[in-house]
Amino acid sequence: MCGVVGISGVENAAQQAFLAMYALQHRGQEAAGIVAFDGEDGRLHKGSGLVSEIFDPESLKGLRGNTAIGHVRYSTAGGSDPANIQPITARYRLGDLALAHNGNLTNQRALRTSLVEDGAIFSSSSDSETLVHLIAKSRAKTIDDQVMDALSHLAGAFSMALVVRGKLYAARDPRGFRPLMLGRKDNGHVVVSETCALDILGATYLRDLEPGEVVRIESNQVHEVGRLDTAPPPAPCIFELVYFARPDSSLWGESVDRARRAFGRQLAKEHPIRADAVIAVPDSANSAALGYAEESGIPFELGLLRNHYVGRTFIKPEQKDRDFGARMKYNPVRDVLAGKRVVVVDDSLVRGTTSRSLVRMLKAVGSTEVHFRIGSPPVRFPCFYGIDMPTKGELIGSTLDVHEIEKKLGVDSLGYLSLEGMVRAVGQAGPYCTACFSGRYPAPLVDVEEGLASEDGPAL
Ligand code: AMP
Repeated sequence: MCGVVGISGVENAAQQAFLAMYALQHRGQEAAGIVAFDGEDGRLHKGSGLVSEIFDPESLKGLRGNTAIGHVRYSTAGGSDPANIQPITARYRLGDLALAHNGNLTNQRALRTSLVEDGAIFSSSSDSETLVHLIAKSRAKTIDDQVMDALSHLAGAFSMALVVRGKLYAARDPRGFRPLMLGRKDNGHVVVSETCALDILGATYLRDLEPGEVVRIESNQVHEVGRLDTAPPPAPCIFELVYFARPDSSLWGESVDRARRAFGRQLAKEHPIRADAVIAVPDSANSAALGYAEESGIPFELGLLRNHYVGRTFIKPEQKDRDFGARMKYNPVRDVLAGKRVVVVDDSLVRGTTSRSLVRMLKAVGSTEVHFRIGSPPVRFPCFYGIDMPTKGELIGSTLDVHEIEKKLGVDSLGYLSLEGMVRAVGQAGPYCTACFSGRYPAPLVDVEEGLASEDGPAL
């Protein structure tokens, strides 16, 4: 998963992109970059690590201009090779081009194979680079038409900001899997992955970019460039609401905090239990745990402390590291938990490693019963649209049933939110993409169907 930002017509655009990326850091901590355009010339600064580690006043000073795009990366397609850090930049026959992409293309191998057969030379393994080649190859007359032509070849998930010859474009795939919204800042405009990035900029939310919409933004004007095939109904990703987005953001007109509380309340209705305290696995499950506590009447307690200086446990390559990572990241509050029957609410169960470690910690400080409640259904299928998930075989919900998982985690009981309950709790913007829970993939998995990628995932 990744975060993108685009700025047009705002002084020191790179500085603004930097701030927005700070707010979007949760969407990717592996690498980040900004390209700023002074007129038609682009300057790039990017690197591995957190936004605060990559940029300093000196590097931002070198990124002059009123137009910029930025990207925070969480490796999905293309692994962690430095060549894959975005924005991707290129110079083609009409000028400088830069691209920041959130989502995964599902036909990138098919596209890449045909481009390579035609003589294209790729400098990264990132799926996003295919778009650069498609723009450069397009025979359409205007840049607008080249961008539309190139985008119309893509399948899968993309919310992107791109700059061609100093002009900012923004686009969302026809299903609208990933968020992208438009805001007003001073005399210019911004596009961002989440509203929390608008807040930090002091920008006003205007609207979400619609699924399939492609716009060109020139300072104070937003021009419609075209619509990609909008025949298929939208399918915004429900996992954004479950886990990925920040609770102080709104996505698709839905407050993330409100959605998570609704998941928690529904979970309490579906899986009630007698207990003394409800605690969250912080921070992503805080809102769901509050919802569970509200509905059940069991007091919400701060029973687990999260060390914010440890990266996401999930992204450590080795299982051994992940177990240790969970212990590094969470610590139980002994006084709150000793002698208590505890309901632990987490937003999702993926491999089950975090929960297994947590159960051991809670029992070690004297909790008499530990009941796990999950604010989403079992994750059973890989995501091909941009959420970094392990292969199907590593997903605990794909290989074991609830009773087997209870045993494996060592919990007294386990309850998952039902798919129907989850969808009902946030009816408004649906129908959502629930592929990781249901196995129903709303956009064709072209590479998988053509035998170019594994149906077990992970991302292409
Ligand atoms: P696990 O320990 O493997 O079951 O992972 C579950 C934990 O990871 C939950 O606490 C989630 O908040 C978090 N999580 C869920 N999905 C992801 C993801 N795609 N990337 C990183 N962390 C995730």
